[in-house]
Amino acid sequence: MFLQRTAVAAARRAAITPVIRRSFTASVLRRDAGAKNVEPHSTVGQKMKAFADIKTEEDLIGPGAAPGTVPTDLEQSTGLERLEILGKMEGIDIFDMRPLDASRKGTIDNPIMVKSAGDEQYAGCTGYPADSHVVHWLGMSRERPMERCPECGSVYKMEYVGPQDDGHGHHDHHGYEEPKTFADYVKPQYW
Ligand SMILES: [Zn+2]
Repeated sequence: MFLQRTAVAAARRAAITPVIRRSFTASVLRRDAGAKNVEPHSTVGQKMKAFADIKTEEDLIGPGAAPGTVPTDLEQSTGLERLEILGKMEGIDIFDMRPLDASRKGTIDNPIMVKSAGDEQYAGCTGYPADSHVVHWLGMSRERPMERCPECGSVYKMEYVGPQDDGHGHHDHHGYEEPKTFADYVKPQYW
């Protein structure tokens, strides 16, 4: 009985093996046929630019992958993603992903500074010491840069570091007026 089973298993293997070989050969042939039709990308073979060589947006286009190979992020990424990868390769964190200062509680006179390159910025407060409460997301803007955490009272202030002339004119929001909150009616002596 044992022998019979082994024989059946061996026969199954023998029946399956040629099928696997055929499909593998076929896929290799298909890949070769496809590679002949691939037009090489114009930048293939171009020298890869280092972080210091990036001057314009055109420098942020990768060289692409050699035909028939799977591209890596370094070969195919473009734009800001490419700048981030090139920076990381040299230890430069272009997006400044470090956590906020959690060594103290922010006050109105000495708030925790949050840099922002945009008109608005959200910061997550976990209290002081860090992680002493669940995350509260605090929204700040260029018009209203200060925000206080409703749970621990830590004060954050957005520091705008983006372009001064962003072509939008941040004092003119097309007639839009930000809705008033209770904070607008607090007497100055209570601040
Ligand atoms: Zn807090």
